[in-house]
Amino acid sequence: MDFLWLFILYVFLLALCVSIFCFLSGRSTSGLDSVLRRAEQVISLVLPAWLQRCINSCFHTRSAAFVFLHLVLDALVFAEYTWEVLDYSLELELNWMLVFLPYFLISVNLYYFYKCCTIDPGRVTKQNEALCIRVYDYDEIMFHRSNKCPTCHLIKPARSKHCGVCGSCIQRFDHHCVWVNNCIGALNIRYFLLYLLSLTLTVASLAAVITTFLLQVVLLSHMMTAAYVDSEGYEEIASLVYVIQHLFLTFPRIVYTLGFLFLLIMFLGGYTCFLCYLSITNRTTNEWYKARGIPGSLRGYSRGILGNMKEIFQPYTRYKKER
Ligand SMILES: [Zn+2]
Ligand SMILES: [Zn+2]
Repeated sequence: MDFLWLFILYVFLLALCVSIFCFLSGRSTSGLDSVLRRAEQVISLVLPAWLQRCINSCFHTRSAAFVFLHLVLDALVFAEYTWEVLDYSLELELNWMLVFLPYFLISVNLYYFYKCCTIDPGRVTKQNEALCIRVYDYDEIMFHRSNKCPTCHLIKPARSKHCGVCGSCIQRFDHHCVWVNNCIGALNIRYFLLYLLSLTLTVASLAAVITTFLLQVVLLSHMMTAAYVDSEGYEEIASLVYVIQHLFLTFPRIVYTLGFLFLLIMFLGGYTCFLCYLSITNRTTNEWYKARGIPGSLRGYSRGILGNMKEIFQPYTRYKKER
């Protein structure tokens, strides 16, 4: 296949994978919701009913489909890494600690992933309703004292929101994440932050090893100083584009994986920074989204950086004490 077509196919598949990953990770509060809803309407005209029911159950009810997809993506990337990169890297005598670092980081990441999937995000129930209400004061801008959830028939604590997917009001609601098939709220936001951080570090470490390996290949084969004969019979010095093209055609899966990892670093890194910023300013994604256009609504709950981080890592202690 011609390099240009191969490259276009590669970019298209890459952009598709990363877009799906990012759009779906926080879709219940995303401004892209209307775009996604419109896309679903268009898709509904062409897809058979059984497939639509399947998609609907994945997006609008609690479903392990994306948890499974997450694990499959992890497995595919690590299978490729173990199958091709690990062997080559050890042969080229790259630092073994760097080569094995991704395995350590993915183990840490899978632990936090498991925690995010299984821990109660902070469901408001009849038993803890009174205690949840006492945790935060109502700002009477975004959260009003008199609000009652029409589904749970409970008074909504300040900073909580009803999640239609989980069917419950969640204390300090951040968003519903399809990738962990759970809401992110007061009790599991700390695990979600550590999950995102460890995932970004895992992806970065994989990219670092693969980049080091490819640079070693280029240096050892003297590719940058090599010459080739073009289609008109002239001798040309290999340019950077030629080297990339050569690497892509020699190690297509490795280069494809590296491109995918770089895009993930960009999106995941950006999202992790955004969530860290919200955490140190004591805001949730839901509040950030709701607060746009409401002046003065962003000041409410901050207790200073240390206080805010303490709240994330030791969530509503008053509730726990009184339980
Ligand atoms: Zn509710
Ligand atoms: Zn939910």
